[in-house]
Amino acid sequence: MSQTLHADVVVLGAGPGGYAAAFRAADLGKSVILIDKGQTLGGVCLNRGCIPSKALLHLARVKSESSEVEQFGLTFQEPQWDLEKVKQWKDKRVVGRLTKGIAALAKARKVQVLTGSGVFTSSGSLEVTQADGVVEVTYTDVIIAVGSHPTKIPSFPEDPRIMNSTGALELDGVPEELLIIGGGYIGLEMGTIYSALGSNITVVEFMPNLLPGADPDVVKPLEQRLKKDFKSIRTGTKVQGITPHDDHLEVSIEGKKSVEKLKVDKVLVAVGRRPNTHGSGFENIGIDIDERGFIKVDEHRQTNIPHVYAIGDITGDPMLAHKATYEGKVAAEYICGEPAAYDVKVIPAVIFTDPEIAWAGLTETQAKEQGVEYDKGVFPWSASGRALALGRTEGFSKALFDKESGKLIGMSIVGTNAGDLIAEAVLAMEMGADAEDISLIIHPHPSLSESVGNAAEIVAGSITDLFAPKN
Ligand code: NAD
Repeated sequence: MSQTLHADVVVLGAGPGGYAAAFRAADLGKSVILIDKGQTLGGVCLNRGCIPSKALLHLARVKSESSEVEQFGLTFQEPQWDLEKVKQWKDKRVVGRLTKGIAALAKARKVQVLTGSGVFTSSGSLEVTQADGVVEVTYTDVIIAVGSHPTKIPSFPEDPRIMNSTGALELDGVPEELLIIGGGYIGLEMGTIYSALGSNITVVEFMPNLLPGADPDVVKPLEQRLKKDFKSIRTGTKVQGITPHDDHLEVSIEGKKSVEKLKVDKVLVAVGRRPNTHGSGFENIGIDIDERGFIKVDEHRQTNIPHVYAIGDITGDPMLAHKATYEGKVAAEYICGEPAAYDVKVIPAVIFTDPEIAWAGLTETQAKEQGVEYDKGVFPWSASGRALALGRTEGFSKALFDKESGKLIGMSIVGTNAGDLIAEAVLAMEMGADAEDISLIIHPHPSLSESVGNAAEIVAGSITDLFAPKN
């Protein structure tokens, strides 16, 4: 080994959790080394996940809006895709700009970035294999932020036409027939993108509903729209196998009643993600890992080994970038002697389809399962001036308040920009707000955000935008 480097804090993995942890530790006065095997910082989310998919979803939405406004009197020509230009925009002007920005932020903070794979050799050191050789890196504290990878279905053949989310985001051509396995976050977001690009989309989901984590009533407006845009949505259906042929893939699917064979050009497998448990030498230092491969951590994100912390997807569900970022800051601050702990009440979930679906706190399904008694306010967007002006009245905002304490315990929203609107409910739940608190906030008019206040007004008994006859 040619070289040994040392830092107060070493962060392994530079996704949204890892770089936040590194930057926070540096800002609090620590010397920091940030290690990632990717050529650019930002991890899966920034390079081949959340960000590029949002860029493409934006174009998909503009395309569908440009044809929908025809009924309101504004007509455009049929949109044309220039796939090369789209790729350039996504890769250079969106992803590239952000990764460069993160590199600049690291430099400004004097965070040393190593591009290579890190493997634990002892509880105080890592061996990092870089393009030009191997370095030993020692540290006082280490934060593991190595993330997750797409789940594979082992019985499927190795074939480049069977993609995961990374492959799908490369936009390597537009298949005429695309089969998507999994009707979750990735399946529906990528389905929306490829449908806009011109593919015929078939979704196969083995649960009885799409987005099994969300309330079925919230999924319904999205499903109704997707049923128009997609060729077919098969819930309660599983894929038995895929047989590659020269000019197509033959996929046998087993529904409730029968087995069917479909001819498709490509398949996207989007059936969840698995933690990156292997390859970083966790076993060399005896880190406690649960039966699903997640590293066990306490409220400071400390593992069973002193000075070894873990954050983000590697520590368990939900595997969401915003949770990782929060945990990264907690771990960094705790290492730096701050009284930080992971004590959030709710983590928002957003599916960036069109319409978007977002929820935070308890879904109604969970409240029922847990026997929680609640009051419910559902404000239909058909009564929202802003939603009408946007031509998008299919959404609604649903608020659940605990019957005993009166506090907001859950919010689910379906509709345009639901992902932005949910932030108010997150704040309300963290602050312990009740229906009166939320209904007494002046929401800007006309805005979709009013629907959050309206849902609370229904429960507070002060709604004027709807007529609720007294019993
Ligand atoms: P997911 O858990 O959201 O959905 C997977 C779906 O596949 C589920 O509905 C599941 O029932 C179904 N499924 C599983 N095995 C199947 C099989 N053999 N046949 C048919 N259906 C099957 O997972 P994902 O869509 O792969 O996304 C992975 C993770 O990435 C998400 O859980 C989320 O944490 C993250 N993600 C988040 C966002 C966002 O925040 N907007 C976007 C993309 C991904």
